[in-house]
Amino acid sequence: LARERSLASFTPRHLTHLLDGSAEHTERVEAVRRILDREPLLDKSASYHLDHEGQYLRALKVMERVRALREEHRWSAGDMNIVWQEIYEGVPSLLNDDLFLKTLRDQATDEQQKNWIPLAKNWAILGCYAQTEMGHGSNVRGIETTATYLPATDELELNTPSLSSIKWWPGALGKTANVAIVFAQLVLADGTRAGVFPFMLQLRSFVDHTLLPGVETGDIGPKIGFNGVDNGYLALRSVRIPRANMLQRHNELTRSGELRRRSQMDQRLVYVTLLYARVNIVAGASTALAQGSTIAVRYSIVRRQFGQDGSTTTESPVLDHQSQQHRVLTPVSEAYAFHFTGQRMLQLYHRLVSAGLAADEAKSLLAESHATASALKAYVTDVTSGSLEQMRRACGGHGYSRFSGMPDLLGMYVQNNTVEGENHVMAQQAGKSRVLIKRYQQLQSSGHGAETTTDYRYMLPVTTEQLEADRCTAMRADEIRDPRVYLHAFERRAAHHIGMLHRRLSQGAPFAECHVDVERIVRAHAELYAVYSFVEALYPHANTWTSASADMTPAANIAPPVHSVLRRLCDLFALSRLVANLGDHLEASYLQSTHGPLARAAVRRLLQELRPDAVALVDAFNIPDRRLGSALGRWDGRVYEAMAAMAQAGPLNRTDVTTGYQ
Ligand SMILES: Cc1cc2nc3c(=O)[nH]c(=O)nc-3n(C[C@H](O)[C@H](O)[C@H](O)COP(=O)(O)OP(=O)(O)OC[C@H]3O[C@@H](n4cnc5c(N)ncnc54)[C@H](O)[C@@H]3O)c2cc1C
Repeated sequence: LARERSLASFTPRHLTHLLDGSAEHTERVEAVRRILDREPLLDKSASYHLDHEGQYLRALKVMERVRALREEHRWSAGDMNIVWQEIYEGVPSLLNDDLFLKTLRDQATDEQQKNWIPLAKNWAILGCYAQTEMGHGSNVRGIETTATYLPATDELELNTPSLSSIKWWPGALGKTANVAIVFAQLVLADGTRAGVFPFMLQLRSFVDHTLLPGVETGDIGPKIGFNGVDNGYLALRSVRIPRANMLQRHNELTRSGELRRRSQMDQRLVYVTLLYARVNIVAGASTALAQGSTIAVRYSIVRRQFGQDGSTTTESPVLDHQSQQHRVLTPVSEAYAFHFTGQRMLQLYHRLVSAGLAADEAKSLLAESHATASALKAYVTDVTSGSLEQMRRACGGHGYSRFSGMPDLLGMYVQNNTVEGENHVMAQQAGKSRVLIKRYQQLQSSGHGAETTTDYRYMLPVTTEQLEADRCTAMRADEIRDPRVYLHAFERRAAHHIGMLHRRLSQGAPFAECHVDVERIVRAHAELYAVYSFVEALYPHANTWTSASADMTPAANIAPPVHSVLRRLCDLFALSRLVANLGDHLEASYLQSTHGPLARAAVRRLLQELRPDAVALVDAFNIPDRRLGSALGRWDGRVYEAMAAMAQAGPLNRTDVTTGYQ
């Protein structure tokens, strides 16, 4: 690894600062890291022999230790974000700090917030978000838990009337949380079902943590990953809560039992909040890919199998094999692409917030951004899950061992396809509300897109003659490696498929028969955005990307050697995605069949060019060994020593003859 590091064409530290936003932020991260590195409890590999219960109990200790360190070092909220990012494990308090607090901020009245938020922030109460039931998740309206208003006592009575109505899955619900925000059907005194609303419910005693009467919770058992968290179930039998425990920011339940809308839940506010949550999901995909590729790249240097061109005397690092480069370096490019995608979304978020939410223009931008963010959530989590598994396999047999850090990373990550909007359901919803389709229709008929964001400009109308004349003229691999060329290919692909779907729907095709096509346009839209984001980070002045006259002056904040390597990654990301979906691109007829081989040749060349920088590119992610928890991905490359030591320390190896022998 040391030799590899000496080959790099750029200084990884410069790239780390770029990723972190500033050298100061990197220093802050490392200051927190030095404190955490002194904590033996945070050595992840210690948990690899533990079962679900053991992992959960360890996670509680982590929470306790972090709380003590927070007080000792007076860590701010920003520092705490760094802390959890550095620990990078599922612990139950994350549910309190994230979903529970977020829901209070969105749904509780000012007075309720004043009562509950300080307690939750200090972990004086620990909350969870209990929406999903055994029988219903995506379809929230189908929730069966009831909250019946009792005017005589001014209370609500909560019940889970059937097996399918039992809450199932909420994180931290099983054993940790002492309060929950429970989603239930509100039943008014006359028996009317008024819809699904959130209610604050105390689950456990604040004195000894025992369950309160009528409340039954438990852990739902071991999962693919995230086993430090007690995802739980909750059954309720005639549990009474005061009316004041209904979260009533947007609706009021009056003393006489009437439900009044207090304020229209501001759709724009919902969009902004969701946009922010999705920025985190995209950034989280980049983080997971960074972690996985750090392990896979370093191990692919240390691991030697076969020689180049059949040499039997000298074995090469497996990263010298082309297919290994393809499987490992492409995810590195995705990690960088999704980093810049998240950054671009964040800028958009700040622009929308600072623009004020009232303006009509902001409103339409919000709708566009919301559709893009939903599309990106589904897209990046899908790509990332696939790439993590690809990299796990790229570690060969050792990738199957938990000591590699890969199975736990994969197990923890793949839930992102399901939570915060199941990917396919969300794609359907983005399609059903028809934001993409509607916008396409508007832009096609109005023909002007001044108020549209760059990423929707591909929807502007073009004449048949323009379309006919618009053919890619690239004749060589280096010509297709031009962002102006491949970005246009992504635009044309997205425009073509949305146009096809629009035509089908206009001709009366039922939406239910268009699900697969909707997913195709959602993917094309998201992928275009990701490519835009990467290119824009490198060439911020070229706002008319696909024009030959676009200003391709490199970003001033990126040192030239770093810019060169990022440009290669950008090309690799775009062209490998293009090759993976070549059929969709060819249908759009901007590219012709001759461009497939050119794009593949460009990818092959890029892999060669990036190979010497592989280790430096993952070093730049600046992930400490403690967080990797991997014998394969260690900074010093002492893979076999670590594997042997970890195996020898295992509980089965404590005795010569196993107790089971008897
Ligand atoms: C690790 C983890 C943590 C979780 N934490 C929480 C939590 O803290 N609180 C909480 O309340 N819940 C939590 N959940 C539950 C989670 O939110 C739901 O599992 C998720 O919303 C998906 O719903 P579902 O399980 O009902 O899936 P379903 O909707 O039943 O999906 C099953 C399949 O049907 C498909 N499908 C369903 N409807 C459609 C449609 N209209 N069009 C196309 N395809 C469709 C889906 O794509 C999927 O393939 C958690 C789940 C996991 C795995």
